[in-house]
Amino acid sequence: MTHHIAVIPGDGIGMEVIPAGLRVLNHLNAAHGLGLEFEHFDLGAERYLRDGTTMPPELMVRFRESFDAIYLGALGDSRVPSNVHAKDILLGCRFELDLFTNLRPIQMLNAKYCPLKDKTPEDIDIMVFRENTEGLYVSIGGQFKKGTADEISTQTEINTRKGVERIIRAAYEYADKNGRKSVCMSDKSNAMRQGHDLWQRCWKEVAAEYPHIQSFHLYVDVLCMELVRCPERFDVIVTNNLFGDIVTDLGAQIQGGIGLAASGNIHPGKVSLFEPVHGSAPDIAGKGIANPLAAILSSGMLLAHLGHPDLEARIRAAVRHCLDTSQVTGELGGNLNTEAVTNAVLAHLDTTAQ
Ligand code: ATP
Repeated sequence: MTHHIAVIPGDGIGMEVIPAGLRVLNHLNAAHGLGLEFEHFDLGAERYLRDGTTMPPELMVRFRESFDAIYLGALGDSRVPSNVHAKDILLGCRFELDLFTNLRPIQMLNAKYCPLKDKTPEDIDIMVFRENTEGLYVSIGGQFKKGTADEISTQTEINTRKGVERIIRAAYEYADKNGRKSVCMSDKSNAMRQGHDLWQRCWKEVAAEYPHIQSFHLYVDVLCMELVRCPERFDVIVTNNLFGDIVTDLGAQIQGGIGLAASGNIHPGKVSLFEPVHGSAPDIAGKGIANPLAAILSSGMLLAHLGHPDLEARIRAAVRHCLDTSQVTGELGGNLNTEAVTNAVLAHLDTTAQ
């Protein structure tokens, strides 16, 4: 069986960490005959500046019809201040491929990289389900009298019955299938009385279908406090697009930093997109020193999506080994570059080969 994977390194350190992740995927592909076939796409700021292309519509059709996964680096370049290419490529894929689940693990792999004191890897193992196709990110709004003292700007949050219900159900299904004990739904229904009332009603209905899973609710401000105070309270979290974006950046720090945060943009059973949470990091781009572990962990999520959770677990174990042995890049206090960290991951995969 062949799996077609589209590769978009994108901008900045995306061009450094995606090749690292591909080395891991190629290694496992060769060892296990996974049938992975990669096609590389020249999309990102360079391409946009060269010929104005952001995301060709016919390519979106190909992604939908002929690919199993997309492996994306990062998008962002100061030469494109509007960020139009990032909007068309990443948000384009999320919306047009209906990647409604943004799956973001918050998993501490080694306590020494966690800024919270006295926490262990057993304490921080959370899966966040961020709604990925609605909310405040749909760009519905307008501006009136722009640039004047009387300017009015509106930005509308969209919550649909279908969209809210399916992300909440996805979180419960995941909890159910993976032996997770609880699901926390987070909103701001005390202040956002229409849209988040819909979240409340959908949540109560879906939660009632899973009586064996403990359900609880926190307003998002309380969730932020609790994630820092007592992360061990959490197992699975489900929330909307904006809150999920913010909460998972907080989560990235408590798990050990943005260089370790992986993500999947998923529509179950259809083409899905995997990317590190970090951006293009222009301050360190081109130096070969970016931490490749978030991209490598994202490649593991890609393999799990293709039906190989065992290989994802091996990748995670290899990353854990690098952290345990301090084979890490500078921002984690190490002295290895991107290539050397990737070599260490590959060496560990060799030691765990069946
Ligand atoms: P963008 O506009 O593309 O989001 P950004 O610089 O605003 O870029 P990030 O790219 O996430 O946001 O970077 C935030 C900070 O974290 C930067 O100082 C960057 O150098 C650092 N950083 C991000 N990713 C990594 C990584 N993989 N390895 C090392 N440092 C990283």
